[in-house]
Amino acid sequence: MRILVTGGAGFIGSHLIDRLMKQGHDVICLDNFFTGHKRNISHWMDNPYFELIRHDITEPIRLEVDQIYHLACPASPVHYQYNPVKTIKTNVLGTLNMLGLAKRVKARFLLASTSEVYGDPDVHPQPEEYRGNVNCIGIRSCYDEGKRVAETLAFDYHRQNNVDIRIMRIFNTYGPRMFENDGRVVSNFIVQALKGTPLTVYGDGSQTRSFCYVADLVEGMMRLMNGDHIGPINIGNPGEYTILQLAETIQKMINPDAELAFKALPQDDPKQRQPDISKAKSLLGWEPTINLEKGLKLTIEDFRSRIEEVKS
Ligand code: NAD
Ligand code: UDP
Repeated sequence: MRILVTGGAGFIGSHLIDRLMKQGHDVICLDNFFTGHKRNISHWMDNPYFELIRHDITEPIRLEVDQIYHLACPASPVHYQYNPVKTIKTNVLGTLNMLGLAKRVKARFLLASTSEVYGDPDVHPQPEEYRGNVNCIGIRSCYDEGKRVAETLAFDYHRQNNVDIRIMRIFNTYGPRMFENDGRVVSNFIVQALKGTPLTVYGDGSQTRSFCYVADLVEGMMRLMNGDHIGPINIGNPGEYTILQLAETIQKMINPDAELAFKALPQDDPKQRQPDISKAKSLLGWEPTINLEKGLKLTIEDFRSRIEEVKS
């Protein structure tokens, strides 16, 4: 198949491309390199079945493809809040353009949505039926409301134009290739512990998140794309940890002497988050296989080798 991956030079997109290329597909990666980088996909550059297009999805593009994995959008709060208007344009105009493309060429379209559509949830864990608790005028809304509109657009193209859609709600995902300056919690703590600077815990660290290793996530994503259910379907690891527990775990694994520095909690930071993955289990036969300790070990090894490479 010819498969388009928007945001393919980013963290999750590049791991997805590795799987698709190994399966023998013809893959087009579309990226504007805002938070992605050529080095994430450089190992495929000489492969005739791989094509890289530098393109901003807020502008339309004409391509012939069978499937579209639509991932283009900065995912770290630091980056999506850097230019919030652009984040909304990417989610709304960008998704509109990609759905228009899917409609024209009759491609199946998978939207990488997010657990952020549940906002600061007052239902726990979060099932897909929960409609969320989102602040539409807060600093996270360019992203969470943007993704909510993206889901609406996908469903309206489905109902109105028969576009074959899949909606995936991704919960916090981590793993090798996250950038040092990504700004999300797992990469921040690992980089800080490796560099011997204090681990920055926001608030008192009692807020929770559930962390999914990227290989598990990509497996769930591909099962959703190639299965019969349109979703939305939560994909995440239900193992739930407080941010303080995460800091202490990484501290123990890398540097027991590393200090913790408590910083202000950002506005609208969700207090708790855990996916209900009953649907993913029953409809996709999917569940995560890599626990936090194993996933962190693999991620730490990757960061360690990159940081040492820079030093030498
Ligand atoms: P990432 O920031 O590493 O990757 C996003 C990619 O999209 C980057 O390569 C970036 O350059 C590209 N991009 C951004 N705006 C673009 C635009 N206008 N045009 C073209 N390319 C553009 O993030 P990620 O963690 O790999 O996330 C991928 C997708 O998964 C995103 O849509 C994100 O919202 C979603 N998601 C991720 C997580 C997570 O924990 N990683 C959680 C929920 C949802
Ligand atoms: N966080 C933290 N220190 C950091 C970065 C993040 O304590 O250096 C906290 C953040 O306040 C949030 C959690 O970790 O409660 C997850 O943050 P992240 O940005 O990774 O993802 P999101 O908030 O979008 O789930």
